[in-house]
Amino acid sequence: MTFQKTLARPLRLAGLTLHAGVPVSCTISPAAIGHGLVFRRLDALPEVAEVKVSPEAIVAAPLCSRIANEGGTSVSTLEHLMAAFRTYGITNAEITLDGPEVPILDGSSLPWIDAMREAGVVEQDAQASVIRLSRRISVSHGDSHAVLEPLSPGETQETFTAHIDFDVPSIGLQSCSSSTELNAFVREIAGSRSFVLASQLPGLQAKGLIRGGSLTNAVVFDTNGVRNPEGLRYENEPARHKVLDAIGDMYLGGFQILAHYHGTKAGHALHAALLRCLFADQTAWHWVNDAPDAKVVAFRAAQR
Ligand SMILES: [Zn+2]
Repeated sequence: MTFQKTLARPLRLAGLTLHAGVPVSCTISPAAIGHGLVFRRLDALPEVAEVKVSPEAIVAAPLCSRIANEGGTSVSTLEHLMAAFRTYGITNAEITLDGPEVPILDGSSLPWIDAMREAGVVEQDAQASVIRLSRRISVSHGDSHAVLEPLSPGETQETFTAHIDFDVPSIGLQSCSSSTELNAFVREIAGSRSFVLASQLPGLQAKGLIRGGSLTNAVVFDTNGVRNPEGLRYENEPARHKVLDAIGDMYLGGFQILAHYHGTKAGHALHAALLRCLFADQTAWHWVNDAPDAKVVAFRAAQR
């Protein structure tokens, strides 16, 4: 049985946002059973400030994950925080944010993991909403693919496998497999940082997508190496970070999905499409437990 969880006490982290490059403060507070993961934008009008993590809130965006409410208020770049929530099994939290993006911090999940460990995570006296995949779901765009495969009977742990292929020798072909099991995630995945090719920087800068980007929050790959003076944290850090992003993105519905994820050159927009496909087809999955509130949410998502 999987129980709902929340933080034992509030935590706060602040830093620059990746896209806009502005300072933002993020406070995560404990929340009651059934609350879910709810962002509150302090800089938005109160009537549209709340954005709840749910299937219907998922929006496809370039270079990051994004959720939005019906009033148009959005929260971007939440994937590294979502991966930390998923790994700790946190299902209820109130997240206040004084800007449109979650701070990028060091480009990994490690600051969130450390802060959550320090705050403490507590189990609540109610079952968490968990869905189990019944059949394979896949989406493709060009040579990018993202797949969710059902677990075998008796399996209880979802896994994540990412393959990437970059046409620079410093990255090349890489793969990584891991899971959301806390120790594995902390040891193998949490510290892997966002990355970018040096050749992509001018285009991204021209579009205003990385005003807050720097060597303190992303690994920059030249043809033959990395520009970051400290080097890499793992030999296959980019593939590990793809697993991190996938874990965060697959939690954007707000509940655990028992499935094996495989991504090939997959990104956030493809993950949004994968989740849309999944939640729109209720023959592809079933609730592991009785979760009436979540059923309503998923039904609304399927109607869109
Ligand atoms: Zn990322």
